[in-house]
Amino acid sequence: MKVTVLGAAKEVGRSAFLVNANHTNILLDYGVLLKREPIFPMHVKPKDIDAVVISHAHLDHSGFVPSLFLSQSTEVQSLGTVPTFELSQLLIEDMIKISGFYLPFEYLDLMTMMKRSKILKYREPYEINDITVTLHESGHILGGSTVVVEHGKKRLFYTGDINTRGSKLLRQADLNLDPIDLLIIESTYSQTEQTPREQSEAELLEFAYEVIDRKGTLFIPAFSVERAQEIACVLKTNNFPHKVAMDGMALKANEIMVRHPTFLRDPEVFKKAVTEAEWIRGWNRRKKIVKEPCVIISPAGMLVGGTAVFYLQEIAKDSKNGIAIVSYQGEGTPGKTLLEKRVTIFDGRVRKCLADVKRFEFSGHNSRSELFEILDRINGNPKVLTVHGDGLSCTKFAEEIRQKYGYDAKAPDAGELIEL
Ligand SMILES: [Zn+2]
Repeated sequence: MKVTVLGAAKEVGRSAFLVNANHTNILLDYGVLLKREPIFPMHVKPKDIDAVVISHAHLDHSGFVPSLFLSQSTEVQSLGTVPTFELSQLLIEDMIKISGFYLPFEYLDLMTMMKRSKILKYREPYEINDITVTLHESGHILGGSTVVVEHGKKRLFYTGDINTRGSKLLRQADLNLDPIDLLIIESTYSQTEQTPREQSEAELLEFAYEVIDRKGTLFIPAFSVERAQEIACVLKTNNFPHKVAMDGMALKANEIMVRHPTFLRDPEVFKKAVTEAEWIRGWNRRKKIVKEPCVIISPAGMLVGGTAVFYLQEIAKDSKNGIAIVSYQGEGTPGKTLLEKRVTIFDGRVRKCLADVKRFEFSGHNSRSELFEILDRINGNPKVLTVHGDGLSCTKFAEEIRQKYGYDAKAPDAGELIEL
């Protein structure tokens, strides 16, 4: 078995790996790196591959998959769980709709990707010629998977994005695996210990009560898939008594997620959290709710678009209001600017944000110690590739793995070929 790294080298975004065994070629993810303009992984000719496995719906893993389906008569298969396909369709469709930049595919190609989809269940092996692919629960977002690829006696394990502690929304990642020969592991927080989840929850609740007690509105910009619903579940399980409203694309994600209860940790809690929240429809209601003491959850998580732009503008005007940042903020995004400078920028005008702004850690990724726990639990004597992290997170992590476990570990470059 051979693996070529097509994108995610020492960076977060455009995850893509080509796995070859004899005459069978499959891709593990084919994502984009979303900067001001999207950056794509290395080119693959669709006729050269048999299938593409989508680990989860986030665009840095799924966003470039439609480019493999430009021909409607293609024989390439797309593999993933049901929620992964439904959520990928939602997110990719949105990317096509709002993109002011060039994308080398369109809606029709996304539809071909959906038509060529083969739905896989967790732990059910699927054969493509002499390669076997098995998905396992990743705990990262709904339907998210880690991937085991087997050929002969060799076994590869790709973590995708992984969360082994679980969340209010999802069960923890499934790490009951046979011995591994090659481990491709995400490194996002390999050098960072995140705030323990219970502490983040307690701090967020305290802030929510504080803002509402002074008759303010708490605005929580959140990613539409997973984070928005996770925050709603956190408020519900802590018996938060005040009004919670949700808006924007989070509502479409709610509709998809509620249809797949078996993928949720506690379907009852989820259902309560999202159905008892007010779903904001239309501008009349939107303009009124910003004056009510309540919590409003709305994408985009980094405040780059969606209904969040309106809420930011309104909520920032009043010092009794609050803004809780619960999602990762990329460089150069309005969310990052708000956090660092306490200003908002609309139509080129810079205004001071009067609302109280606080940041809370609610990541869907493993922390440093949890990444090492994966290595503790993996059997075999695997080669290790550290991917999906900014430079140092990958290189330092690989060095630490070499020292601690004696494994042949490295942070690969784009285009690098690894043989098993
Ligand atoms: Zn992800």
